[in-house]
Amino acid sequence: MSKSSDEISPRAKKLHFSSIVVDTHDDTTQRLLTPGFDIGVRHTDGSIDIPRMREGGLGAIFFSIWMSGTVTGPEAVKRSLDQIDAIREMVRTHAKDLVLCTTAAEIRRAHADGKIAVLMGVEGGHMIDSDLAVLRSYAGLGVRYMTLTHSVNDEWADSSTDKPAHNGLTDFGKEVVREMNRQGMMVDISHVADKTFYDALAISQAPMIASHSSCRALCDHPRDMTDDMIKALASKGGVIHINYYVGFLSQEYRDAMKSNPELDKQMQAEIEKRCGKNEDCQLREGDNLVREAVAAGKLPRVTWEAIIQHIDHAVKLVGADHVGLGSDFDGANMPYGMEDVSMIPKITDALLKKGYSEADIRKILGENTLRVMEQVEATAKSLAQSK
Ligand SMILES: [Zn+2]
Repeated sequence: MSKSSDEISPRAKKLHFSSIVVDTHDDTTQRLLTPGFDIGVRHTDGSIDIPRMREGGLGAIFFSIWMSGTVTGPEAVKRSLDQIDAIREMVRTHAKDLVLCTTAAEIRRAHADGKIAVLMGVEGGHMIDSDLAVLRSYAGLGVRYMTLTHSVNDEWADSSTDKPAHNGLTDFGKEVVREMNRQGMMVDISHVADKTFYDALAISQAPMIASHSSCRALCDHPRDMTDDMIKALASKGGVIHINYYVGFLSQEYRDAMKSNPELDKQMQAEIEKRCGKNEDCQLREGDNLVREAVAAGKLPRVTWEAIIQHIDHAVKLVGADHVGLGSDFDGANMPYGMEDVSMIPKITDALLKKGYSEADIRKILGENTLRVMEQVEATAKSLAQSK
């Protein structure tokens, strides 16, 4: 048992380790591509491996299929297939601990069998090369959500961190959402422009998710969701999965970064120097550099309790049925006290201390995600014969 779970109450421990805990967004896939990396052994860097997932009681994890949105066309498809293969091979070579799952029922079975459920999400519509056949092939290989964009616009949808080019979703973009409904893939609206979100919400026949977004009312970043968006998402049964990235949690951190563009530039240059084009290295060195800047007093120290504030804000807004966890582990700078997945039982402990019911905490830990998956599966079934 990790030190962090020793600090929590026996009641929290019992609740946490008997719940199905789901994390809808992890970027560990980039590490899988590094020769020699073994998810089965404990690492001193990064946030995810099997020993630490066990310690943290993680029951299901969505591995992100990701590359920069500037990679497009056939190359993006090829690289996506390589990542899907790396995840499937990881499961095959660690079958004692991991099992590939594509439905909520399979996740429940994995949990009953004492295994960690592995799922896949494609993080960015640029990876389908504007081709519904490619989208369907990803679904066939087990991908269960797609984020409609990453950080730049793709060919058919606007991103929240780019200049609008499509006024939300294009007609083809709407076709993509309909096809995802037919294929039983969750529509993920993290990263998308607000207009893209509302367009997708109007089209999707199944509840949608934000796989890794936080609350804009607490941190004014375009990647976070406004209260109106969270309410609209919830009104159609969807779930916002809170992102632990300090830049989406803390206004103070965001302001410090904005007021010091030189620091950001220096850090980017240093990352390039240490890592070249290796994206796995870039992600981890980025984290080291932020921690160095915090130690030097150049950035504020954001602690893990900020995650609880965002969960609580969303719950107060729309109730406990529409909030979940989407850490962004191995893809972003984590707050102090939430450096890795072994520390997530602290979330359960904190919510109990806040007076949340055990039933509500189970929902936030994973049951809400499982419910959305079931609804998405049912929608696909009902559309099975449709054109
Ligand atoms: Zn992301």
